[in-house]
Amino acid sequence: MSRFAGKVAVVTGAAQGIGAATARLLAADGASVAVVDLSEESAQRVVDEIVGKGGTALAIGADVSDEAAVEAMTARVVEAYGRLDILVNNAGITRDNMLFKMSAAEWNQVLTVNLTSIFLCSKAAQKHMVAQKYGKIVNLSSRSALGNRGQANYAAAKAGVQGLTATLAIELGPFNITVNAVAPGYIATAMTAATAERVGSSPDEHQKMAAERTPLRRVGQPEEVASVIAFLASDESSYVSGQTLYINGGAR
Ligand code: NAP
Repeated sequence: MSRFAGKVAVVTGAAQGIGAATARLLAADGASVAVVDLSEESAQRVVDEIVGKGGTALAIGADVSDEAAVEAMTARVVEAYGRLDILVNNAGITRDNMLFKMSAAEWNQVLTVNLTSIFLCSKAAQKHMVAQKYGKIVNLSSRSALGNRGQANYAAAKAGVQGLTATLAIELGPFNITVNAVAPGYIATAMTAATAERVGSSPDEHQKMAAERTPLRRVGQPEEVASVIAFLASDESSYVSGQTLYINGGAR
């Protein structure tokens, strides 16, 4: 399949988890992919995998919450591949705590990495997308946007992502740029494994409890989010914009 032949994609936070699965899928479908993460070395491992399978990819180390780093990362992608068609704003962190214990630093860090980074990366990417009159932006929200105990910072950031997505769709639509978000439920990644550890549970036990609360009776896998992101990044979703699609096994 070559849904993305000739297309250039940036996936942030792509050294592992949902981002890595997305980078692999976009590359397998023909895109040239910039695998962006804090550590260039970790991103390179995903690039090596992609290239080993005949794909095209480039590892870039960048903190997506740093405006200068985002500008430099975007410039490097356009210099390497000549254009920028797809931006997947996937990088994210959690710093869970109950409100009465949450520090301002925990609040700010989560807002900055999960929300401000999307503002920065989208602003840098749109310059090229507007000039091309073509672009696809997909943002990572979360089911936690609806509220989740111990996640005031993360829920606020992920709800903010939905508002930002709807607004960018309005502003960038006239330039043939679509902007959508996905809101996953429980996906088995390092992020949820770290949550399990924090609450004194094993990843398996934690996943089992999450599965019991989910109509499909299992947790999700990174590839099951990547396939929806790829749909929203493809021309199959050409008249879909400003939407947030929940990927949560049927949970309300
Ligand atoms: P993950 O396994 O923790 O991967 C996130 C990646 O982002 C890591 O490689 C991380 O690098 C990187 N990253 C963190 N801060 C960054 C920064 N400032 N600049 C560049 N890269 C940065 O997470 P995941 O579970 O795949 O989640 C991916 C996205 O989906 C996140 O936005 C998350 O909030 C969202 N999501 C996840 C779930 C879930 O259940 N897993 C559910 C809903 C939404 P380091 O490892 O070096 O920090």
